[in-house]
Amino acid sequence: MRLFDTHAHVNEERFDNDRTEMLDACFAAGVEYIMCPAVDRATAESAIALADQYEQIYAAVGVHPHESKDVTEEDYEYFKDMALHHDKVKAIGEIGLDYYYDFSDRETQMKEFKRQLALAREVDLPIIIHDRDAHGDILDTLRTYGKGNFGIFHCYSGSWEMAKECMKLGYYISFAGPVVFPKSTRLKEVAQQVPLDRILIETDSPYLTPPPFRGRRNDPTKTQFVAEEIARLKGITADELAEIALENGKRLFGIQ
Ligand SMILES: [Zn+2]
Repeated sequence: MRLFDTHAHVNEERFDNDRTEMLDACFAAGVEYIMCPAVDRATAESAIALADQYEQIYAAVGVHPHESKDVTEEDYEYFKDMALHHDKVKAIGEIGLDYYYDFSDRETQMKEFKRQLALAREVDLPIIIHDRDAHGDILDTLRTYGKGNFGIFHCYSGSWEMAKECMKLGYYISFAGPVVFPKSTRLKEVAQQVPLDRILIETDSPYLTPPPFRGRRNDPTKTQFVAEEIARLKGITADELAEIALENGKRLFGIQ
């Protein structure tokens, strides 16, 4: 099975002790592409360093809503410079709103979200959206300030009604480990209905480990379980689903 994990924080320090072995195991298991998102300047730099080191890894630059209170002008200059001039930087992300933790105040989250929507349009790259308990404000903002933006709803957690809105606005729906959890009946219904040409798969490693590995560190090989579950819901083979999702990812990120 050939896999594209469209969201894996393989630059996180939880991989520092065995990153080389972990990534080699991923590549041996069929993971052919990994999108490594940033959450701030430091993780943008470490994502780019990994993209320089491994042909299979691509990077995003941007500031997560959690870290939006700390972003600086210099950070924005760096993001823009990398987005324009580094050929393995393929997205602005992860960006969005997180009303569950509220680690940055909501006004600041919104301000930096809008600014990064503008940045993504300027550099003509897709965005990777983090939306936690902020469905309404994310959609409103995309409708009002996001004309011309496109990209991914990462670790999708909304309803089918909302998924239709997201797709109408030009977004892909990316499913992570939670779609595998037996209790996720509503999310499984969404995955069953989203058209194949709009589906992406991811792990959000090292978080959100799917069964049968819950409680352990997640890694990109587990994209396979997401592929298997969505394939089961759609009545196709896991190989077919993985292949379609891989091509969707390459198309969205502009990977040859
Ligand atoms: Zn993430």
